[in-house]
Amino acid sequence: MITTTEHLYQLFLQHPSISTDTRKITPGSLFFALKGDKFDANTFAQQAIEAGAAYAVIDNPAYQLGEKYLLVDDVLSALQELARHHRRQLNIPVVGLTGTNGKTTTKELINSVLSHHFKTQATQGNLNNHIGVPLTILTIDKTHQAAVIEMGANHQKEIELLCSISQPSHGLITNVGKAHLEGFGGVEGVKKGKGELYDYLKQSTGVAFVNGDNATLMEMKDARHLSNVVLYGTSANGNLVSGKIIDNSPLLTLEWTNNSSAKSHTVKTQLTGAYNLDNILAAICIGVYFKLSDEEINKGIESYQPKNNRSQIVQTASNTLICDYYNANPSSMFVAIENIGKLTASRKVLILGDMFEMGDEAAAEHEAVIKKAMETPVDERIFVGKEFQKAGLTMDHGPWTMDSKIFYPTAEDAIAGLKANPIKNSTVLIKGSRGMALERLVELF
Ligand code: ATP
Ligand code: MG
Repeated sequence: MITTTEHLYQLFLQHPSISTDTRKITPGSLFFALKGDKFDANTFAQQAIEAGAAYAVIDNPAYQLGEKYLLVDDVLSALQELARHHRRQLNIPVVGLTGTNGKTTTKELINSVLSHHFKTQATQGNLNNHIGVPLTILTIDKTHQAAVIEMGANHQKEIELLCSISQPSHGLITNVGKAHLEGFGGVEGVKKGKGELYDYLKQSTGVAFVNGDNATLMEMKDARHLSNVVLYGTSANGNLVSGKIIDNSPLLTLEWTNNSSAKSHTVKTQLTGAYNLDNILAAICIGVYFKLSDEEINKGIESYQPKNNRSQIVQTASNTLICDYYNANPSSMFVAIENIGKLTASRKVLILGDMFEMGDEAAAEHEAVIKKAMETPVDERIFVGKEFQKAGLTMDHGPWTMDSKIFYPTAEDAIAGLKANPIKNSTVLIKGSRGMALERLVELF
């Protein structure tokens, strides 16, 4: 017999903890036997029960060994449906966010701000997909007063699905840029895919927080005639919150104004990168909207320390590193290069690794980044990866002399090159796609 969502929900209320990995079973939890590329967790259901799971949710009757095994049509759909059902019972604001860049940083900032006033729950790390979102929703309990949910996507209809599960009452698209071009089908495809959050807010009459400086987002919200819109940006005009950078050396200090009270504040952050202004203003705007005091908001922003090599500053014996090798795509490469170009530092170095998932646009996008790097006032440029090397060796070199020695086909080659010619007394931006694993270079500084 197939287990209904209502029945699963009753069991979840008694066992409000979910496990999906038999190596990390929480005793008394519900185990969901999800399928991966290389495994079918139906085969681990018995192990999960033996490890202490209260029930195992499976979709292959061959593994149903008794009452503790709950058969469903499809385990992933059952997990998503359970989360959807649970969300409906929660009467709290859920801020859903998506966008090309800065989702995790903005989510952490919003959560840091809101947690100075509410008991919040937020996506852990980067658990932002069709499994992470339902798992996050299922960690929200009756004691939580607000939640912040990150939603990632690399193809159409993904955000629509994640919105149907998390049912955001409030939403934010950080920006729309060039990433996952393969899956989305170009930048117009990215716009449509991320726009599914605005589509959801339109039909559910939720509130959209929109960056008034971002022409693409403004156009997207106008096209849908969104009515519940709260704006933030650099100008005081029409924005609930406005702000600007007053210092970036390399940590950001901002001045921001709560335009509902016309009160201005200075806030010292632990973030670097001018692009983080948008992320910070979004979090401040949400704090003001939810009626936090300006002091609570400032505490939330000041106390947030970036993690996991997302624009993190690391001071070594002889260099200042901007560790930004968590991920990379053309949009985030451009703003990171621009940022170091503007920093006041005696000597500046770029170490840039290949950008993945670029599809047919790989050659052109790597060329564009090389061009940007050559035009930016830095003292040394090093490119790591086969795409950069290929682009660098074939592109029109313009007015620059490009020594082929600055192109290393692999990280191992770069390590050897940097050992032979160590970098000293410099501010160094290290950025590349996750797959390049540029963290391997850090010990050389
Ligand atoms: P993912 O798609 O992997 O979940 P994300 O959208 O959550 O990424 P973050 O992890 O917050 O993004 O940031 C990753 C990197 O993106 C940062 O280290 C920085 O280089 C860049 N970035 C952050 N915010 C912005 C922004 N507003 N505009 C452009 N680039 C940004
Ligand atoms: Mg993220």
